[in-house]
Amino acid sequence: MSLIITSPLRGWATTLDDVPDPVFAQRMMGDGVAIQPLGDTVVAPFDGEVVTLHEAGHAVSLRSAEGAEVLIHVGLDTVMLKGEGFTPLVVAGDTVSRGDPLIRFDLDAVALAATSLITPVIVTNAEAFAISRRTTDAAIGACEALMTLVPVQAEARRRSDDGTLVEQAVTLSLPHGIHARPAARIGEAARGFEADVHLVKGDKRGDARSTVALLALGTAFGDEVVVQARGDDAEAALAAIVALLATDMGEAPAAATPAPLAATNPLRAGQIGGVIASPGLAMGPAARLRQAEISVVREGNGAAEERAALLAARNAVRARIAARADSASGSIASVMQAHLALIDDPELLAGAEKRIAEGCSAGFAWRGAIHNQIDAIRATGNAHLIERTDDLIDIERQMLATLTGTALGEAAVPAGAIVVAEDLLPSQLVTLAAAKPAGLCLARGGPTSHVAILCAGMGLPALVAMGDALDGVEDGTPLLLDAELGNATVAPSPADTDAFAARLAKRDARREAARAAAKDACHSADGTRIEIFANIGSVDEAQAATAQGAEGSGLVRSEFLFLGRETAPSEEEQHAAYQGIADALAERPVIVRLLDIGGDKPAAYIPIDAEENPALGQRGVRIALARPDLLETQLRAILRVEPAGQCKIMIPMVASVDELRQVRAVVERLRGAMGIATPVEVGVMVETPAAAMTADLLAAEADFLSIGTNDLTQYVLAMDRGNPTVAAGVDAMHPAVLRMIGETCRLAAVHGRWVGVCGGLASDPAALPILIGLGVTELSAVPGFVAEAKQIVRGLTLVEARAHAELALQCKSAAEVRALARAFEETR
Ligand code: PEP
Ligand code: MG
Repeated sequence: MSLIITSPLRGWATTLDDVPDPVFAQRMMGDGVAIQPLGDTVVAPFDGEVVTLHEAGHAVSLRSAEGAEVLIHVGLDTVMLKGEGFTPLVVAGDTVSRGDPLIRFDLDAVALAATSLITPVIVTNAEAFAISRRTTDAAIGACEALMTLVPVQAEARRRSDDGTLVEQAVTLSLPHGIHARPAARIGEAARGFEADVHLVKGDKRGDARSTVALLALGTAFGDEVVVQARGDDAEAALAAIVALLATDMGEAPAAATPAPLAATNPLRAGQIGGVIASPGLAMGPAARLRQAEISVVREGNGAAEERAALLAARNAVRARIAARADSASGSIASVMQAHLALIDDPELLAGAEKRIAEGCSAGFAWRGAIHNQIDAIRATGNAHLIERTDDLIDIERQMLATLTGTALGEAAVPAGAIVVAEDLLPSQLVTLAAAKPAGLCLARGGPTSHVAILCAGMGLPALVAMGDALDGVEDGTPLLLDAELGNATVAPSPADTDAFAARLAKRDARREAARAAAKDACHSADGTRIEIFANIGSVDEAQAATAQGAEGSGLVRSEFLFLGRETAPSEEEQHAAYQGIADALAERPVIVRLLDIGGDKPAAYIPIDAEENPALGQRGVRIALARPDLLETQLRAILRVEPAGQCKIMIPMVASVDELRQVRAVVERLRGAMGIATPVEVGVMVETPAAAMTADLLAAEADFLSIGTNDLTQYVLAMDRGNPTVAAGVDAMHPAVLRMIGETCRLAAVHGRWVGVCGGLASDPAALPILIGLGVTELSAVPGFVAEAKQIVRGLTLVEARAHAELALQCKSAAEVRALARAFEETR
């Protein structure tokens, strides 16, 4: 378990190399970080005990509860001052908590008298703790993360008997384990050293330079892996790879990938169902993409010739992928980078070389090497990694096509067609997207595969996992692709085609009308005010949301500031971001959700012990209450936003009133200390069944309630929102979830509190009439849906919405609710 050392001072964090004293710069006392102080109070960097306090009052050493020992030495040559300018506030033996004042000093007087004020913060027992991450070259506040220590006791770091091998265990912080993209980054880091580096999980061992070997380890978040390094720079290589593995490498947690949508609608004759990988509607002729069967001969023409052929093919494929990576951005670019690593993967190359040496052709050897690895990954049983083996098949196919001169068919898809295929590989999708198809139907594939992620990013409606029924769809067959209900109608009747075309036209007209009235306030047809807000995760999105007509933000996912980095953002950084969002929304309400870390959104610098059920463990408000330093920094950053009161505070994952009370008490204490007279609203998210069922108790004390349907659905249905194997069932339109929403509205009304929805259901056109009918008066949707949501609400009366919602509550399944919603839409 790692340990966070927070900064004992406000100032500028810098490396020890910058300390003009060889004792510190050459790490004679140990490794650490130095701080140029801007504050005058040294505070405790962790909970622990004061070991020594120098009689001159300029240096203090402490031991943490875990045994880490840290020396804080204020300034250089300050011992000469003999205590002048220093006021010790503790004595040796005192027990202290993180943030407790230890020494106060006269900043000006000491600055004048000492050689330098620079303050080294040194880990003095390097034999027991190593620094896995540190903050340098950055402004830092007291109590903000400065270093992360990992224990290096015998069981953590070991040296082999002959002294040539060092190894250390590390717990993975990667949300999806080591899949292709992180594996490519680990490989890149390992290539920077001479040492051989391997990762070991259980009885499996993989070369750190090999993506496929790392995939075959079958790792998942929270797994322990052992990093082994052998060679001249083994120590440095070990430290670098361990530090990398302890972070999330910027990998988006499951919540940020497109939520798999359910295909729950009952099918009519002529329809094929599927899982929605990317929502939308499309109609057009089927364009059947048959995978060219590429056959390769076993026998080679001699090892030298085959080696040269393999090299030439790798060079050609590498150049093609690199060109694509250069012209792409976002998810396309990172998938291309992962493919580049596979072309040069040492494990694949060794596998191919072995076969070539045995007399095989280059193509046969490459195919054998790839399938060996796919088998190893399948054997791990890790569904997420297995879904990603399409990256390996993709590279196999590109290499074999190049080696055999086979033309690949995807470039020939006509514009406006619906591509129908058994499965699709990421590179194929990227190629055929240029032809502007209308949609995509796949017999196989999963909702969290790279292809699904790419489709959602491109806005291309797509169904996956449609099964063998798709085989019968011939080229040119007319198709109606409904990636809202999760089905495709094959060779539809003229009446179905007309109805679908009318639906599409209505959709287009509604979008057009929505665009025209995007900036107008939103009322239902009978005059009820419904606020349409946007969910945002950055200042850029706030600007986009305002342009789309958002009347505020009902959910600022503040995690965007916290995830994918090595230390927590400072109060200044957070304040600048929140102020930027508030400014972009120009005095409209901004609801900042407090840090929602944990569960499917891990951050490496907020250590959480391995949990059997992370979704039911330390997350949301539970972390905030366990880490008051993080909570207070964030609250101060929010409270400082001007004008006061524009930012409201929303608490995630609330399960009881007590959590609200505790956070509210901190808000009020800080508001008092900061002299902010304007009251600041504090609301709760309803994401747990507990919060929904006690909404009256919460509403008695909260200023508002906002339903997070993503989490509420997973907890009500007991289906993990990030697990592809239950994806088809995770539908917030399930009557059980709708009943929870209805109950929340009913109970909150007892105290006259408003209820909003900020989960994915607020961006689902089919759900809006039901939500309004259940009593929701604020919807916070994805920015791109804001104008359309307003238009849908404008077409509704409350009376009809209530009647519709009443029927929805009586449905027996999400499928029935969706069919009802569809029928409701058709009557409009
Ligand atoms: C939710 O759970 O619906 C929600 C809005 O929070 P998140 O998706 O960020 O967990
Ligand atoms: Mg949530």
